[in-house]
Amino acid sequence: MINFNVPPYIGTEDEYVIRAIHSHKICGDGEFTHKCSEWLETKMKVSKALLTTSCTHATEMAAMLADVKPADEVIMPSYTFVSTADAFVLRGAVPVFIDIRPDTMNMDENLIEAAITKKTKAIVPVHYAGVCCEMDVISDIAKKHGLMVIEDAAQAIQSYYKGKAAGTFGEFGCFSFHETKNLSMGEGGALLIRDEEYIEKAEIIREKGTDRSKFHRGQVDKYTWVDYGSSYLPSEMNAAYLYAQLEQADVIYRSRMASWEHYNDRLKKIAQDGRIEVPFIPSDCIHNAHMYYIKLKDIEERTAYINYLKDKGIMAVFHYIPLHSAPAGIRYARFNGKDIYTTKESERLVRLPLYYGLSSDEIDYICDMTEEFLRNRIG
Ligand SMILES: *Cc1c(COP(=O)(O)O)cnc(C)c1O
Repeated sequence: MINFNVPPYIGTEDEYVIRAIHSHKICGDGEFTHKCSEWLETKMKVSKALLTTSCTHATEMAAMLADVKPADEVIMPSYTFVSTADAFVLRGAVPVFIDIRPDTMNMDENLIEAAITKKTKAIVPVHYAGVCCEMDVISDIAKKHGLMVIEDAAQAIQSYYKGKAAGTFGEFGCFSFHETKNLSMGEGGALLIRDEEYIEKAEIIREKGTDRSKFHRGQVDKYTWVDYGSSYLPSEMNAAYLYAQLEQADVIYRSRMASWEHYNDRLKKIAQDGRIEVPFIPSDCIHNAHMYYIKLKDIEERTAYINYLKDKGIMAVFHYIPLHSAPAGIRYARFNGKDIYTTKESERLVRLPLYYGLSSDEIDYICDMTEEFLRNRIG
């Protein structure tokens, strides 16, 4: 059977996790936490990267740092994971959804301005499949209207827009190292902070509202409760697992990209006759091969395809019931403008297996079975 996902494992994780255990410093903010932060700061050219317990938590921190308050509005796509909205709903804010572009499945940057009201606080672009949103346009709109930009870059580690790393455009960038992402620590994430003025407050929020980070650096001789906060610091064992992968990030990247290109070479041929659609990568974007998806005719054909693959031992999945049609979305959020593409395109999309270690033979088999399915459909 071909799984949809296998968590990334490069081989040096064991040694590093054991090293973390034997350092007798397992709680976090130790050697591996710092190594990971440094790696992210250097590679992504950003003033601060803080490891967190998840991308969800990184986004919650960003919402606090942005001082999002009850009844504030936050503009985001409806086609996204629940965390994008949840982090703001927890602060009493209202997610305002806008439609996506059918080509990239990202928020349509041309619909943002019409959704801005006096209550709007932030724009939250989601870089779907590691393909960046139109960050030039989004940054200009934010500047013009005095809004913050908080990037949901959960899927976008090692993705670039016009040569600049995803997650470094807005005030805050939120990353995920969940086992389903390109690089992993089991559960975990990172908050990237663009402007130095937010660093101290972010460290306090991550450490239960205390100035413990300063204490660790020897800047204060005892630590105390200085503000509100929570517990968003991952353990050293998780950081050790991640560091092994960060060191080998290019190996993982090249392998995933080879798989992505292999799928694309085969499936774009089928796409030429209009039976399916393959991903579109704008020329300003360098993506990270996070995901390979195709779009079928409609939801009925997609269900048949997923079942067909399952019979052949291939696990393919779809995701994101648009948030505005979910019970919590109806209760806490609203959709601005018309849902022309969000529902329609989400119902046609299927994600194919893609993980570090997926073999070229397996990809050929999946593509063969896709061709077979489509041949049978024509009948
Ligand atoms: C995976 C994902 C998240 C959540 O990441 P966690 O680390 O599991 O909290 C948020 N947004 C998007 C778009 C994601 O793909």
